[in-house]
Amino acid sequence: MDINLKELKPKIILGIAAHPDDLDFGSSATVAHFINQGAKAHYLIITDGSKGSSDQTVNPKDLTRIRYQEQRKALKLLGGQSVTFLGYPDGLLEMSLGLKKEIVKVIRTIRPDIVITIDPSMIYSAQRGFINHPDHRVAGQATLDAVFPLARDHLVFPELSKNGLKPHKVKTVLLTNFEYTNYYVDISDTFDKKILALKAHASQIPDIDQTKIWLRQMAEMTGQKAGYKLAEGFVRIDLRI
Ligand SMILES: [Zn+2]
Repeated sequence: MDINLKELKPKIILGIAAHPDDLDFGSSATVAHFINQGAKAHYLIITDGSKGSSDQTVNPKDLTRIRYQEQRKALKLLGGQSVTFLGYPDGLLEMSLGLKKEIVKVIRTIRPDIVITIDPSMIYSAQRGFINHPDHRVAGQATLDAVFPLARDHLVFPELSKNGLKPHKVKTVLLTNFEYTNYYVDISDTFDKKILALKAHASQIPDIDQTKIWLRQMAEMTGQKAGYKLAEGFVRIDLRI
């Protein structure tokens, strides 16, 4: 743990991700931890989640409806406030100014002091044998661009300012990254809430008990780095400008 990083006490958190369930896998115990300290938590989900099934008979529209319900339920179980869905087609997300503008709109509406998203620099891990989903990378990059400088600068999207969406400066960004982390949150008391939230994503997680076992192992390993029983780790960026 970087000793220069003081413990965060956010008032408003905004989690931004590509798919329903991304935030609950990566950071829901941290979100629950901040909520327990009095924070309000909101989610922004960029895609419609319509490709997240191996069932050949599933109707993508039904899947989107189910996954939106699951995501709303999961955040509610953590004690959070609202979920905004942008409804971009799952699996096909591309970087665009339009996407960044929609994220800016939500940042300027919710006005979070902390934004949580996925680290877009994580493209693949040969060691772990995975390629990070391209939607995750686009979502993370568009979010970073929206945080800085687009949401902050009043001359960007002046039409938003005219409609009451004034510029907003996010104080801290927390990025989920499986390889490198510099900040840890003690989730010993909220790990069970994470499992509860993930259980809400029943269409994605057929065996929650199995999922719980590997998530607990991961949380223990992360905790060892910070001296906590269980932890979630992040790349933390405190924005100075
Ligand atoms: Zn995902």
